[in-house]
Parts: sequence; structure tokens; C-alpha cells
Amino acid sequence: ATTNGSSKVFEVPKVEVRFTKLFIDGKFVDAVSGKTFETRDPRTGEVIATVAEGDKADVDLAVKAAREAFDNGPWPRMTGYERGRILHKFADLIDEHVEELAMLDTVDAGKLFLVGKVRDIPGAAHLLRYYAGAADKIHGETLKMAQRMHGYTLKEPVGVVGHIVPWNYPSTMFFFKVGPALAAGCTVVVKPAEQTPLSALFYAHLAREAGVPDGVLNVVPGFGPTAGAAVASHMDVDKVSFTGSTEVGRVVMKAAAESNLKPVSLELGGKSPVIVFDDADLDMAVNLVNLATYTNKGEICVAGTRIYVQEGIYDAFVEKAAELAKKSVVGDPFNPRVNQGPQVDKDQYQKVLKYIDMGKREGATLVTGGKPCGDKGYYIEPTIFTDVKDNMTIAQDEIFGPVMALMKFKTVEEVIQKANNTRYGLAAGIVTKNIDIANTVSRSIRAGAIWINCYFAFDPDAPFGGYKMSGFGKDMGMDALEKYLQTKTVVTPLYNTPW
Ligand code: ADP
Repeated sequence: ATTNGSSKVFEVPKVEVRFTKLFIDGKFVDAVSGKTFETRDPRTGEVIATVAEGDKADVDLAVKAAREAFDNGPWPRMTGYERGRILHKFADLIDEHVEELAMLDTVDAGKLFLVGKVRDIPGAAHLLRYYAGAADKIHGETLKMAQRMHGYTLKEPVGVVGHIVPWNYPSTMFFFKVGPALAAGCTVVVKPAEQTPLSALFYAHLAREAGVPDGVLNVVPGFGPTAGAAVASHMDVDKVSFTGSTEVGRVVMKAAAESNLKPVSLELGGKSPVIVFDDADLDMAVNLVNLATYTNKGEICVAGTRIYVQEGIYDAFVEKAAELAKKSVVGDPFNPRVNQGPQVDKDQYQKVLKYIDMGKREGATLVTGGKPCGDKGYYIEPTIFTDVKDNMTIAQDEIFGPVMALMKFKTVEEVIQKANNTRYGLAAGIVTKNIDIANTVSRSIRAGAIWINCYFAFDPDAPFGGYKMSGFGKDMGMDALEKYLQTKTVVTPLYNTPW
């Protein structure tokens, strides 16, 4: 049975929060309004820290600093090599503070401490190094003009970038955005999620230590409808890059259109299918699906939440998937034996429980889980539904919790049609040894990432982003750098060309 990991077997570290003010123009400052908000620990619901609450007035100051740093400061003017050197130093400082950063994300977001320590935080440094290395390789091209002209393109930074980021991967998301934007020579204003402002402020401190000039990286914690909206609608922000819900993505895009028509990129929700074919190794498939659904307690936009299993192995799959889910240890994310921490906050916790209830009411069969666990905090058992129909709410909506929906299919054609029956298109998993099936299905699914016999196969060099209502514009890879660059075409007549 699922247990709430024993508190005797591990030591809960004392987490010290060093940075709680807004970071504007190289300084930690209070909000203009003097307001603060509380960030809470999802393990207990208790307050971890009181953080300065930025709103429009603070965003104005941050944008002003970023504008000045872009228009007159050294950052866009120095060579890519020099920018890269500073970003490498920034990455080295992250490595020196891995434990402290991982702790902040654990108390802020309920993320597993060990995973943060070995994956999220080192991964953030890795991402930053990838872009540090790219900073001196940004160049345009020579054009083959049809006329007697010399033409070439310049790749220039877009300017001041607003980054609005979510709470589920506070460190990863920060560098998805800030890494390529800084390498490109942009200056940035980051609005972290109100649930998880702490690591972002720590990164601002490390950037300053590394030598990122004042005004280049600003961090303004605050709420979406105030601070976030101020970023999206600001006349002096040249581009907005957003990760979050589809609903808020639409609001951000509208605000961008109604202000200065700034380009936007959106990484939004998902309802990603994982398709398991009859020929798959059963144990491998069960493990992979478990990982796809329950990683980070299901709070991950690419979570595999619609699991299609071919009829030949369906019954055996359900049995093993339930066995594995029941073995999961839900509890304090500092406990090394635990593999699932609490949902990020009370709202998300209640929302997930509501979806579980809806699944039952709509006629799906609850095989395991379905209940909260522990006597405090926002813990939910890993949950599995079978007999799920494509049109049920739990098969259509993004739940963002540890809820697996299992469905049976017969043929390749049928499952392609079913997998595409969603407004989202973020990712898909395929489990088969048959290369013809793998190739055919990967081409037929309208999603931005296809993982064959693996899942969450993220890599700094692999562009990531959605199709359909999962958004547009890629994070990671060289594609992400393109988002923060614009192309200028320069033309001159050749000698003796009449003009
Ligand atoms: P989630 O549903 O995962 O909490 P949201 O889309 O609500 O995701 O939040 C993602 C980010 O968008 C957060 O930083 C949040 O503060 C911000 N946000 C929320 N509402 C708005 C808004 N109206 N304008 C701009 N940003 C917003």
C-alpha cells in the first residue's frame, strides 16, 4: 500500500531562504507598494518565506532597467565570446550551490530533493552552458542576390524579453528561457510563478556574482493578473516567452497584440498519449508508463496521461501497472525513499481530487489510488482509471496530477486517430519493437515531441515545444536561440552597378 514515508529514516534539513526581495537593476529591492506575499511549503501548508510582491510599478522599473541595459549597456555590444564566458561562470556558480538550490525547489514546489540535486539543478547548469557555448556562434548568412548587389543578414537580439514562467520546474523553466535569451544578447525581466519565487531570486544573485551587468537580468515575483499581465502588456517589452496553462497563454497573447504587437512564444498544456503495442516488453512498458504519468507527481506538461494499450497485453498491463503504482512511496520529498511528493499547493490538490471524482462519476473504473494521503500537506495517491472513454473529461483535460487513464485499442489506424483526438499536441510516447509501426505512428501524431521506447528524453540540443493548442515556439536547442534573435537584411550595390 502507499505509505506516507516514515519521518524517522531521514533528516529534514533546515532550509535557509536568503533572497526574498525583487531583483531590479542589479539590486535586491522592496516592492514600490511595500507589499509582500507568503510562499508556502506543500509538505505542511506552512509559510516558508515572505516575498516582496511586484506589480505594475515594479515591472515598469524592471523594464526600464532592462531597456537601458539593452539600449546603452555593454551586454548586447560585447562579443558573443565575452557573453559566453560570463554565462559559463554563472553555470559554475550554480554547480557550487546545487544543494541549496535543490532545497529551495523542494520546499517551494514539493519536488523530490534527490532528483533536484542530481537532475534539475545540474540540468539547469548544463542548459546554461549549452547556450554559453552558442553565444559566439550566432551569425547571419551571405545572400545569393539576383541583382548585382551584395546582400547579407545580421542576427540581432530582439531586445527586452519578458519571461513568464510556471511553478512545476522552477529551475529548468528559468533556464529554458533565460539561457538562450541572454546568450543572444537580450536583456530580460523574469516573472516567476507566485508558488515558487525562491530559486529564481537565488539565480539572480548568482548572475550578479558571475558578472552579468546590472539591468540585464531582472526578477520580479508577483501574481499573474498583476505582475504577469504588466509584463505581457508592456509597451517597452519586445518579446514575451510564456510557459503555463493554455487559458493564460491566450490572455498573454491577447495582451501582446493589444499593446505593442510584441511577438510571443507559448508553451502550454498537454494531454500526451503513450501507446503500448502488443509486441512491447511488458515490464519495460509498465515502468515507462509509470514514469511518464507520475514523474514530478504528474505536474509536468508532457506527462503521459492517456495510455493506449493494445488488446493482446491490456489485461496483463493493467494488473502490473496497478501493482507498481501501489508500491509507490508517497511522502516527504526530502526522504530519499520517497518517490512522490505533495502537489504544489492547495488549489492544485483540490483540482486533482475533483478530477478523480469526475472520473468516477463519468463511469471510469478506479483501479487503485484516488484518495489523499498523509495527515497534513497535499499528498495524493498514484491513481489509475480503466474503462476510460475518449470523450470523458479525464481523457480530455489536463489534470496535472498523478492520474493515469488507461484505454484499450485494436489497430494501428485506430490508435493514431484516438491519439490525435485532443486539442493538445505536446508529446507522445510509443512503445514497440516494430520499427515500421514506430516510424508510421511517429509521423502520424500531431505533437512536438515523440519518444520511442523512452519518455521525457529531453536534451539541451533537442528543441521542445507544442503543436496545436499546446503552443508554438521552441525551448531548447538552437531553435530556442532563434526566438530571441531577429534577422536584419543589409544590401549594397556592387561597384559600377547603376542604382
Ligand atoms: P498554472 O495553471 O500551471 O498555475 P498559469 O498559466 O496559471 O499556470 O501560470 C503560469 C504563469 O503565468 C505564472 O507565472 C502566473 O503567475 C502567470 N500568469 C497567470 N495569470 C496571468 C495573466 N493574466 N497574465 C500574465 N501572466 C499570468
